[in-house]
Amino acid sequence: MRVAMIGSGYVGLVSGACFADFGHDVVCVDKDPGKIERLKAGVMPIFEPGLDQLVASNVKAGRLSFTTDLAEGIKGAEAVFIAVGTPSRRGDGHADLSYVYAAAREIAAGLSGYVVVVTKSTVPVGTGDEVERVMAEANSAAEFSVVSNPEFLREGAAIGDFKRPDRIVVGLEDERARAVMAELYRPLFLNQSPLMFVGRRTAELIKYAANAFLATKITFINEIADLCEVAGANVQDVARGIGLDNRIGSKFLHAGPGYGGSCFPKDTLALVKTAQDLGAPMRIVETVAAVNDQRKRAMAKKVIAAAGGSVRGKAVAVLGLTFKPNTDDMRDSPAIDIIQALQDAGATVRAYDPEGHEQAALVLKDVAYAADPYAALEGADVAVLVTEWDAFRALDMDRVKAALKTPVLVDLRNVYDPAEMARRGISYSSVGR
Ligand code: NAD
Repeated sequence: MRVAMIGSGYVGLVSGACFADFGHDVVCVDKDPGKIERLKAGVMPIFEPGLDQLVASNVKAGRLSFTTDLAEGIKGAEAVFIAVGTPSRRGDGHADLSYVYAAAREIAAGLSGYVVVVTKSTVPVGTGDEVERVMAEANSAAEFSVVSNPEFLREGAAIGDFKRPDRIVVGLEDERARAVMAELYRPLFLNQSPLMFVGRRTAELIKYAANAFLATKITFINEIADLCEVAGANVQDVARGIGLDNRIGSKFLHAGPGYGGSCFPKDTLALVKTAQDLGAPMRIVETVAAVNDQRKRAMAKKVIAAAGGSVRGKAVAVLGLTFKPNTDDMRDSPAIDIIQALQDAGATVRAYDPEGHEQAALVLKDVAYAADPYAALEGADVAVLVTEWDAFRALDMDRVKAALKTPVLVDLRNVYDPAEMARRGISYSSVGR
């Protein structure tokens, strides 16, 4: 099957490479010429485990190619995916759909025969109707169906998630599109991944409901962690105690510095706005977003307290910058708010992240980047573990202690054992324990 992917970022590139690996013929389109040039040269624009080999093998097999020319890319395609960004609109928190509509117009203008246009970008309920309208306006002769197929992959585990999804959600309003979508995903239901056909608006809402629910779970356990701290309880045991209940489940119950990343912050906000506009406000999600926002900077206060009440003129070593391990994505990473709050309080910051330095340098000012974790700790007054990369899970505590000017460690991911840290003479604080 011929497939075009408009937008070759995290979602477009991973989805395109995986569809090619299933045997489809895929052209990935992006309007960023630098990105396409790098991809043609075999250089990945993002860090995602396994992606470089997957892309290379499918390019070699002749099933995957890259172009900046949208009209050329969609020629002969039976399905054209829209996988462009839908960031928060500046000022009001609504999803900015300008990239989606611009792509839709361009697709419409280049169409020659019937095509299924599939929105993979996360878009508010009702966007499919507007995509349909915009396309008809741009080309009244165009023959097409508009489908919603939200993506649930996680950065850092994106290929596995795409190839073995918990479910595939397809929202459509006509039978002709259904046949194309069934053929496209046929390799996946051979793996017995459940394929759900629902109405288009329902599919659009499933994506936001999923992200808002997960964000709520994280925020819930974070508030329980705060309560544990004042009540003298252990949040990890509470999480295990509730997570073993099948009705609750153990995932997304790790207390930490608050959720970040390219999806949860913007998607919770966009859902809140949509719900308000439609007159069915989601007060739980409104609260989740507000609580999470405050939490990130509150983590800086934890560091300041651990440093004896002030970090003015002190050096803070930060381990981990990306919003989670195994990605170089810095979008809305909690590390940004934490570091800025520490700098506002007078600290200097030295950081180490296995993959994130390049992206971090674009959003953070006055941070020195170290070559390894111990170099970041050298001479620092306090260390703070922000992202739980594997590289930080078994640090040599003798070296940590020797490197730090004072042995103070704030562990925002609860990686280490408080009793063990006490035994080693490290002044240790974590979250909810
Ligand atoms: P991204 O910013 O990494 O990639 C978007 C790409 O689209 C960019 O490379 C940009 O240059 C390109 N683009 C924009 N307009 C274009 C146009 N008219 N023609 C060609 N290319 C164009 O974004 P992303 O993280 O891949 O997210 C894409 C969408 O998928 C968003 O709606 C996001 O919410 C959703 N999503 C993301 C994830 C994730 O983990 N990143 C997971 C699920 C869903």
